[in-house]
Amino acid sequence: DWSSDVCSSDLNNDNLLARRKNVLPNGLGVAFPIFADKAKNSEIWDVEGKRYIDFIGGISVLNTGHSHPKIVEAVTEQLQRFSHTSAQIVNYESYVTLCEKLCEKAPISGDKKAFLLTTGAEAVENAIKVARAKTGRPGVIAFVGGWHGRTLLAMGLTGKVIPYKKMFGPMPASIFHAPFPAPENGISEEDALRGLEMIFKADIDPSEVAAMIVEPVQGEGGFHQLTPSFAKKLREICDKHGIVLIFDEVQCGFARTGTLFATEQLGVEPDLMTSAKSLAGGFPISALIGRAEVMDAPLPGGLGGTYAGSPLGTVAALKVLEIIEEENLLERSNQIGTKIANFLTGLNNPKISYVRHKGAMLAFDLVNSNGEPDVEATNSLKAKAFEKGLLLASCGMYFNTIRVMVPLTVEDNVLDEALAIIEQALA
Ligand code: PMP
Repeated sequence: DWSSDVCSSDLNNDNLLARRKNVLPNGLGVAFPIFADKAKNSEIWDVEGKRYIDFIGGISVLNTGHSHPKIVEAVTEQLQRFSHTSAQIVNYESYVTLCEKLCEKAPISGDKKAFLLTTGAEAVENAIKVARAKTGRPGVIAFVGGWHGRTLLAMGLTGKVIPYKKMFGPMPASIFHAPFPAPENGISEEDALRGLEMIFKADIDPSEVAAMIVEPVQGEGGFHQLTPSFAKKLREICDKHGIVLIFDEVQCGFARTGTLFATEQLGVEPDLMTSAKSLAGGFPISALIGRAEVMDAPLPGGLGGTYAGSPLGTVAALKVLEIIEEENLLERSNQIGTKIANFLTGLNNPKISYVRHKGAMLAFDLVNSNGEPDVEATNSLKAKAFEKGLLLASCGMYFNTIRVMVPLTVEDNVLDEALAIIEQALA
């Protein structure tokens, strides 16, 4: 029983927070004033022995839970053999096996290729590099509320100014943001298409656009779902103008939405697809997967990275794929999503609006009596849940969306306990 562990007296949250404040810059935020000691599946214990239920999963990284025993075993075994060679210097079998499996499972027809990186932002940046190499064009279309990372190019693609872009300009050139259709934000598919048309009139000719990048379900932007009909329109526009279509599956991928990739539910194939986060159950690895003729465009040596495709990440990711199958996590994702959605609508609470989910990729908005975003209520729900031992995260263009990223391996009794906390915290 970890919660009864005795902690040394100076290793408490307040002391650590004070040390953190002295040495870390302001720009590096932290959601909760606690420091982790241990974690298991959907629970975290802080250095003072207090237990929390984790509905954030390291920002959607832990669909298979904290420290899944099979992943721990595989990584431990790998560590004892070797931890790093740099895949571009001496490659290893698990790297190739993982790429084979990703190509086999990616919902793209025809010949495919894949390669590995370290972070989501890096996968996104490489997708743009590959698309530019293939087309010889500069432009990129991204979407309002889209979120693609914090590095310079990825930040430029991200469609939200505060806090991600403010003070960090100039932004990389030739990136334009089209509206993303989201009924929650009052934007229809027609509005979004018209916005795209305006970009082609006002900013860049489609013949100069290399790529269009979109999330099948927006993550940080508020869990807004791309519809099959809008995805089809984007595919048609890209086909018409020779634009590479990129689906960013970094947050919505790896069983979160009830299919391995959220793309599978759209009936449309992208040319390139990024993957990261839950791909490797807590180990930093990401991937770019795509049509072979696009992926092969850059010259030898143009792609890669010192740590890209770490062997600890590759063996972890191979286990994640096994676990998703063995533990029926696709089905479990749908069960969890339906259960939480039914629970939330059953509360009949007028503050809760737009409960939406694809599998367990679920979010809801908090609104005031006029139906407007209620940031105060959102922050208060997070704070009260935290007091009661539940970690909840928000997102969205208006900071009033609560999103659920609980491990799909969560035990039923832990899930019930968390929902009871949400009910009490809302009350
Ligand atoms: N794309 C999406 C859709 C994301 O949600 C994120 C991270 N929130 C990223 C890219 C960037 O990933 P990373 O933080 O690993 O660079």
